[in-house]
Amino acid sequence: MSGSLLVDNIGELVTNGVGEGPLGIRRDAAVLVEDGRVAWVGAAAYAPAADRRVDAGGAAVLPGFVDSHAHLVFAGDRAAEFAARMAGQPYTGGGIRTTVGATRAASDDELRATVLRLRGEALRQGTTTMEIKSGYGLTVADEARSLRIAAEFGTETTFLGAHVVPAEYADRPDDYVGLVCGPMLAAAAPHAKWIDVFCERGAFDVDHARAILACGQAAGLGVRLHANQLGPGPGVQLGVELGAASVDHCTHLSDADVDALADAHTTTVATLLPGAEFSTRSPYPDARRLLDAGVTVALATDCNPGSSYTSSMPFCIALAVREMRMTPAEAVRAATAGGARALRRDDVGVLTPGARADLVVLDAPSHLHLAYRPGVPLIRKVLLNGVPQ
Ligand SMILES: [Zn+2]
Repeated sequence: MSGSLLVDNIGELVTNGVGEGPLGIRRDAAVLVEDGRVAWVGAAAYAPAADRRVDAGGAAVLPGFVDSHAHLVFAGDRAAEFAARMAGQPYTGGGIRTTVGATRAASDDELRATVLRLRGEALRQGTTTMEIKSGYGLTVADEARSLRIAAEFGTETTFLGAHVVPAEYADRPDDYVGLVCGPMLAAAAPHAKWIDVFCERGAFDVDHARAILACGQAAGLGVRLHANQLGPGPGVQLGVELGAASVDHCTHLSDADVDALADAHTTTVATLLPGAEFSTRSPYPDARRLLDAGVTVALATDCNPGSSYTSSMPFCIALAVREMRMTPAEAVRAATAGGARALRRDDVGVLTPGARADLVVLDAPSHLHLAYRPGVPLIRKVLLNGVPQ
């Protein structure tokens, strides 16, 4: 859509740039959008003329949420596993293989329909940038097609061939790592921006993770990894050492892990996924400890059929505030600018001139309501690339 668009009568504008407090808040503001970008931000009284106008009605406007961790390419669901867990069975990650079987058996159109459904669900809840991982194919052909389908929905695509060792390689994990680093990476890399490994007991140990991530880097992919979710381990420090954009979960951290993430030379973001702790009834990560140490924190959904089947960033914000002792401002920042940092993006997660015009109009006067009114549909309108959805 061409022409300019003015979003005005904004009671509270979260810019994540210059303004009041950590969210860079401006009151009684307006945003001018041209060619899908933010062209101007300022006081509504001084807003320039535009071809079209969106009246925010005095409500809060935020950058669209940046969900930097989601597993959307799969088939089937695991509602029965969830029910069993809620009846007392522990989460081990073993159920991933159930989804692998269903995903391999699904057609391309079935997989595409699932991504479309979940991406639409997320968009209606304010998510304008969403990372999408493979990881339920675990054959050369199934990982390649998972990423081909993911790439139809955006550029933030992640090769997660090292999700678990598939059953057919259970007694020869070294051979599976060879497959991931060789033909699987070669087939996946043209459709992927990132490489990820589930570095955890029962999945991939630190030597395998290091080898796989190094191969991915050599193929031009950026590094991110699942680390320290189910117990303490070397994943977080491996991520920092390799210059990963993000280490995700960070539920079980040592002082040395926190120090590594807080180091002034570290560019690695700690991405917290409270939907996983909610859905596995597990202790939440200690967000306060990370924030107080000066670590950059992102919030993401971990949307997947096993351990966190939510696509809702507002839900994750509410959990972060209630269960992880983040302030509402910290949680909103982590869900927007934090997610952008985790994807090494400076054009999203902010509403400053030059940024992509991805923004959310709330059905509320303040960002506080995202945590204050949990479970309530507060997203009134979403602009994606300047286009009302
Ligand atoms: Zn995950």
